[in-house]
Amino acid sequence: MLRIDQLSYWERTTYFEGQDVVIVGAGIVGLTTAIAIKNKYPKWKIVILEKGYLPSGASTKNAGFACFGSPSELIDDLKINSENQVWETFDLRYQGLKTLFQLIDPQKIDYLACGSYDLIKSNEEEINPDLIAYLNTESKKITQKEETFTIENNPGKKFGFNGISCAYFNSLEGSINTGKLIEQLHQKAIQAGISILFGIECQKFETTNNGVSINLSIGEMKADRLIICSNGFAKQLVNEDVVPARAQVLITKPIPNLSLNSTFHMDKGYYYFRSVDNRILLGGGRNLEINGETTTELGTTEHIQTALRNILEEIIMPYQKIEIDYAWSGIMGIGASKQPLVKKIEDRVYLGVRMGGMGVAIGAAVGKQLSELID
Ligand SMILES: Cc1cc2nc3c(=O)[nH]c(=O)nc-3n(C[C@H](O)[C@H](O)[C@H](O)COP(=O)(O)OP(=O)(O)OC[C@H]3O[C@@H](n4cnc5c(N)ncnc54)[C@H](O)[C@@H]3O)c2cc1C
Repeated sequence: MLRIDQLSYWERTTYFEGQDVVIVGAGIVGLTTAIAIKNKYPKWKIVILEKGYLPSGASTKNAGFACFGSPSELIDDLKINSENQVWETFDLRYQGLKTLFQLIDPQKIDYLACGSYDLIKSNEEEINPDLIAYLNTESKKITQKEETFTIENNPGKKFGFNGISCAYFNSLEGSINTGKLIEQLHQKAIQAGISILFGIECQKFETTNNGVSINLSIGEMKADRLIICSNGFAKQLVNEDVVPARAQVLITKPIPNLSLNSTFHMDKGYYYFRSVDNRILLGGGRNLEINGETTTELGTTEHIQTALRNILEEIIMPYQKIEIDYAWSGIMGIGASKQPLVKKIEDRVYLGVRMGGMGVAIGAAVGKQLSELID
């Protein structure tokens, strides 16, 4: 690959010199951050550097749930986090979706306000109406809706699932087309005059008196500011509480007469599925191999793929022969807290990472927060 010192005058001055902001990572956060900063400072030169030929973390690989918190996951979070933390994160996700839909026309990313079911298996604890009442009281302060969560008594019968006793239904969640979202954000960024360069890795940086010196896989550049939006890969550049968390997904071949017109979560959010173009997209199982899945390596494992196939055959489509088409994985960024890390880490250097499993919702809110932090 050509190195910076082999480039033409035009190439250097357009992309590698005089940049007001360099952003590392062209996922949802990198793109929405760049767009929000450009809105605030239209004359600034901004370049996004992405190590892959496509974004190579989570934003083009996710399941496309526009979700902000299922009850079983919220209840689980409340056991280890303060109420404040849990509801602040819920609020950030909810506001994030609103911010996203102000930025991108929901129709252009196939947004479906289809709601979501948090399925409770027959061998799990029954739904506690007091807990539902509590969740509704707290969530109303954010969603303004009397009952964000309702109880669905027989989702198994409604959708043909096996071994499911009941569910929580959230009418405010939905689904999007993940590929279209990133494409729309990409187009918005280009239209705004932001440069996006693929195939360049940021390896190290150092602040100097008058800027940031950035070591790239193709040489060195200087910029006024650096924003790190590399999520699960952030440890490569900063010593902060964020670690990679691989998540695996499979997709079936098209299934005739499939009628799953919603999104579904199970096991405190560890499993999730939905229909896409008459196929079932099913993901999760990271809890089966937490250590093994703490990796930045893309790939799938037989253990988790078998668990996913079992859920498909035993719970989701119990009486049908379903063929898997293919599987993939993506890398999320997680940490001790489910709150994202959004901060200035040193003079001229900012960080927006740790989106966890709900970056579709949080991403745009984090982009906005970063644009407000920048000086
Ligand atoms: C399988 C899967 C399913 C998911 N499902 C959902 C869902 O349904 N709903 C939901 O809300 N969220 C979901 N998520 C989570 C969501 O996708 C993420 O939270 C979100 O995409 C994070 O966006 P980001 O921009 O922070 O990170 P990323 O999209 O990972 O972007 C970071 C980018 O930085 C690049 N990069 C890293 N290091 C460097 C470097 N040194 N130099 C240059 N570039 C670098 C990476 O290649 C990557 O493209 C899912 C995630 C996965 C993996």
